[in-house]
Amino acid sequence: MAGEPQSDCLFCKIAQGEVPATIVRETETTVAFRDINPQAPTHVLVIPRLHHPDAASLAAAAPGVAADVLREAGEVAAQEKIQDGGYRIVFNTGTGAGQTVFHAHAHVLGGRGLNWPPG
Ligand code: 5GP
Ligand code: ZN
Repeated sequence: MAGEPQSDCLFCKIAQGEVPATIVRETETTVAFRDINPQAPTHVLVIPRLHHPDAASLAAAAPGVAADVLREAGEVAAQEKIQDGGYRIVFNTGTGAGQTVFHAHAHVLGGRGLNWPPG
């Protein structure tokens, strides 16, 4: 069922502490942890504890939690001191856009120059 932990989902396992991760922030509804394959000096993933396959599905089903993810992305940027240089919040959606984990997550990237368009 949407929202319930999925036994085959890596990010559900991280949210439940069953798979280790370098956690940088946690709230009742979200977990933020360092990406295992960082693409920038700061590369943190913010996930909802609830399982939804992508950001839009999360926003449709649980808009308050989607807002929590965005607010936490900002808190990560503040904690990592990347606001002044600028940072990017990315939600890859669908395999064609590079989504590989189908549990909604925000990438928070910063600490270097970021090109636009991202490619
Ligand atoms: P996506 O490609 O779905 O937008 O992002 C998935 C992200 O999860 C990738 O950037 C990938 O490096 C990261 N990732 C995959 N497996 C793990 C893991 O086991 N631990 C952590 N911390 N990150 C992971
Ligand atoms: Zn999940």
